[in-house]
Amino acid sequence: EYSKVQKIKKENLVPCILSYYKKPLLIHEGKMQWLFDHTGRRYLDMFGGIVTVSVGHCHPKVNEAAIQQMGQLWHTTNIYMHPKIHEYAEKLASKMPGDLKVFYFVNSGSEANDLALFMARAHSKNFDIISLRNGYHGMSPYVMGITALSTWKFNVPIGGGIQHTMNPDVYRGPWGGSKCRDSPIQTTRQCDCPAGACEASEKYYEQLQDVFRYSVPSGHVAGFIAESIQGVGGTVQFPKGYLKKAYEIVKSNGGVCIADEVQTGFGRTGEHFWGFEMHGVVPDIVTLAKGIGNGYPMAAVVTTPTIAQSLGSALHFNTFGGNPVASAVGKAVLEVIEEEKLQKNSEVVGTHLLLRLAQLRNEFAEIVGDVRGKGLMIGLELVADAQTRTPMSSTNFMDIWEDCKDMGLLVGRGGLNGNVMRIKPPMCITTEDADFTCEVIKKALENYLEKR
Ligand code: PMP
Repeated sequence: EYSKVQKIKKENLVPCILSYYKKPLLIHEGKMQWLFDHTGRRYLDMFGGIVTVSVGHCHPKVNEAAIQQMGQLWHTTNIYMHPKIHEYAEKLASKMPGDLKVFYFVNSGSEANDLALFMARAHSKNFDIISLRNGYHGMSPYVMGITALSTWKFNVPIGGGIQHTMNPDVYRGPWGGSKCRDSPIQTTRQCDCPAGACEASEKYYEQLQDVFRYSVPSGHVAGFIAESIQGVGGTVQFPKGYLKKAYEIVKSNGGVCIADEVQTGFGRTGEHFWGFEMHGVVPDIVTLAKGIGNGYPMAAVVTTPTIAQSLGSALHFNTFGGNPVASAVGKAVLEVIEEEKLQKNSEVVGTHLLLRLAQLRNEFAEIVGDVRGKGLMIGLELVADAQTRTPMSSTNFMDIWEDCKDMGLLVGRGGLNGNVMRIKPPMCITTEDADFTCEVIKKALENYLEKR
């Protein structure tokens, strides 16, 4: 079976589809935090289909909601009303702060961000969008432009009116230390911040001011978009206060602030339901995808009534967005997060995991450069030289990563240099799963050092 599937993949699927591992896994089944391959072998899934399986693979309650809805009504488009979308919009609105209560349902994160940029431009009547380097926002032509990771090297036009500013990365960037970030881990590395103010945050903020000074001298921006923790970019956390100041300068110049919560939403960061809350900001537009549907393809943009009004009565149409099955699934996901207290679980198990990984960093200080994150959104950065922070080579990283897989642990990979392990599992994992994860990573690091 395996070789037949490989042949089809080679002949009938585009070559740019990403496959993890030298010998990609053929997955047949998923159950909560577990995946099973074609031989029946079980893996602990600490990446959740790229931060998407929020409440667990094939969660029985979500399954039941989808199956029940499929037996009743699949699709109408929004030319007719159906109760599910209304029930869902009401429930999701109850999770949002401030005036964020108007939804536009779509089908993917890229579509959501595309629409958010469109809304920002329509509302502000300005054109320039500012985004952060090292951010990932999707793959449609508009949002490919705001995505700023060198991983995508297509020589095709990708939008216009986009300004990138330096991402405030306190590990790789020129300023800051790990204490600048809002994270439960205790480290020995010192931050340069004087008491009460984060100097690193100020420095990165000056970079953003320069965008206004040099690139958008009119000061008229349409908007600013940022993830609350950069996900694909390698779990990059911002220094305290940065986003708040960024929002202020953007708003004072007539722009709207967009929070890309595609990875950080729905309780994943533990302490808060939405990632932007850790920065003490309330965005004008929020985009949601991935975990919203636990793997069912769906996404949303939420904004204020005033901004929504700027789209007016012009036709802006989406055939599948907010269809009855997606709405039923979305509502069930929210109920499961509440009933099973998964946000709290992310905080408790995530903190446990971060603290244990921080011990590994101390134990393997030569090759583990950094451990960071919040809740169940974690990154472990491997380096060739801890002093210079030179990233570990791709080949060496892959040896360790593949070794983890062979020991039954699946984690993601990210960062500009591809040297960050990304740990973002379904939020139902247990402390035992976290311990297993650390044990496997520890063994893989030991194996690597032995072979070296
Ligand atoms: N925003 C972020 C933060 C993402 O991580 C992703 C996907 N990795 C997207 C947007 C795009 O989502 P999609 O792949 O569903 O288009």
